[in-house]
Amino acid sequence: MSNSSAPRYPLVLVPGLLGFIRLLGYPYWFGIVAALRRQGAKVFPVLVSAVHSSEVRGEQLLERIAQVLRETGADKVHLIGHSQGALSARYAAALKPEWVASVTSVAGPNHGSELADFLQRLAPQGSLRERLLALLMRWVARCMAWLETGYRGPRLPIDVAAAQQSLTTAGVAAFNARYPQGLPTTWGGEGAEEVDGVRYYSWSGTLQPGITDRGGNRLDGPNLFCRLFARSFRREAGHCDGMVGRYSSHLGKVIGDDFPLDHFDIVNQSFGLVGKGADPVGLFVAHARRLREAEDAVAGRRPACR
Ligand code: CA
Repeated sequence: MSNSSAPRYPLVLVPGLLGFIRLLGYPYWFGIVAALRRQGAKVFPVLVSAVHSSEVRGEQLLERIAQVLRETGADKVHLIGHSQGALSARYAAALKPEWVASVTSVAGPNHGSELADFLQRLAPQGSLRERLLALLMRWVARCMAWLETGYRGPRLPIDVAAAQQSLTTAGVAAFNARYPQGLPTTWGGEGAEEVDGVRYYSWSGTLQPGITDRGGNRLDGPNLFCRLFARSFRREAGHCDGMVGRYSSHLGKVIGDDFPLDHFDIVNQSFGLVGKGADPVGLFVAHARRLREAEDAVAGRRPACR
């Protein structure tokens, strides 16, 4: 299907921590893949380790991208990463910019997650709490692997400590020193829109009492968790989606950082239950159009290209 508002390059969707493609048929990108496909886009939700470092997940992502390029015959892909998926996408784009037309961070902890910092304080390395938390994470990840119905491939490794380290403010600062593409140079600012031929974008939401806790979220457990998690925030207290701070999410061109969406709403979870008046799917559809316009602008810059 040809559609002038759909990107020509395939869209590769990268999930966050404890990510999946489909659990017993239930999709991570609820209603999003379908909406993008209706628009005419080629969409590939992929799986990487549910719990591991952004670098290891990024290496796995490079393999997925190579597969999509082979299958579609495309020259490049657009990467859209939710949460830690954004860091994995940034890693892949840093190593293989020639494969990547754009990286879009959706509620990505591009400067770390204060929730991860809190958990590290609560359960320091070597403590009993840390061992219990790691056990729980491994168990959840194993269960998810059993229930996964959208992935066919080898079993993916799990490393709880590496995942935790990849999400703290200090851990992401070390990651950023190695892979700084698209990062703002000032706190709360925007980053370069294009680095090494790769365009960088981001959007995120914040908890907004009276809005994000109404509508479908009245019935949604994850929203309650986000409200509890938000209490662990200090630097961005009152300005987070429950897991990632508003300014921490900034990367490249900031499309918006205060949409009324919690960390799960932003990928339309659960079952499309979101706050009053929120439209997370619409943000993806509008972004696909934006990516297409950027593709057209790049094509227009090439004098030999018709
Ligand atoms: Ca929700």
